[in-house]
Amino acid sequence: MIENYITYLNFLSKKFDKFFESQKPYIFCKKGCAKCCKNAQFPYSQMEFEYLMRGTLKLDVETKKAIVDNLKSVMDAREKFEGEKFLYDCPFLVNDVCAVYDYRGIVCRTFGLPFVGSDGKIKAPFCCFQGLNYSNVLEDGSNTISEEKYKKLGVKEEPVAFNIGYEFLTDPDFERGFNFQFGDKKPLIEWFVDLENARNSQ
Ligand code: SF4
Ligand code: SF4
Repeated sequence: MIENYITYLNFLSKKFDKFFESQKPYIFCKKGCAKCCKNAQFPYSQMEFEYLMRGTLKLDVETKKAIVDNLKSVMDAREKFEGEKFLYDCPFLVNDVCAVYDYRGIVCRTFGLPFVGSDGKIKAPFCCFQGLNYSNVLEDGSNTISEEKYKKLGVKEEPVAFNIGYEFLTDPDFERGFNFQFGDKKPLIEWFVDLENARNSQ
């Protein structure tokens, strides 16, 4: 079944490549820029997690050790956390580079693209406020697009938003179409909590 999921990922990748290409004048992603991999929850389905683990097994010993160290720090912080929404840096981020890039989850593939807000307007990704994606066409003091700045830029590519919500991209329609199941969905770190609990109860 994981092979069917990989087919779906390839389908998504082709789509996302086109999206990014069509938005080139506004995209400032580069290797080493990893703000999108920090301070978040990272929803992962069971299928995505299994695929991520498949990629992790292929890593060299040193990188695996760095991930284990990161995981330990995040798990310790989670244990002490008393709020409602635990945010953390992804343990797979090693020296500000994703160690499992080809095996990363679906949400990771959407980082940096704009989306449609509940008011129907195009919303730039969070890093627009840090001088990154879409910062060159941003309405002052908001994450919406300034028509004036876009026109001033004089580029042919118009800023557009995409349907890239995690719930949409993991919709049962895709499971049926590609013949696989995502399984449970939860923040990435919770998969490791489950693994640890299962180990402790043996
Ligand atoms: S899996 Fe990779 S791309 Fe996804 S959040 Fe972690 S480091 Fe970032
Ligand atoms: S999405 Fe934003 S934070 Fe993430 S790599 Fe691209 S520019 Fe950097």
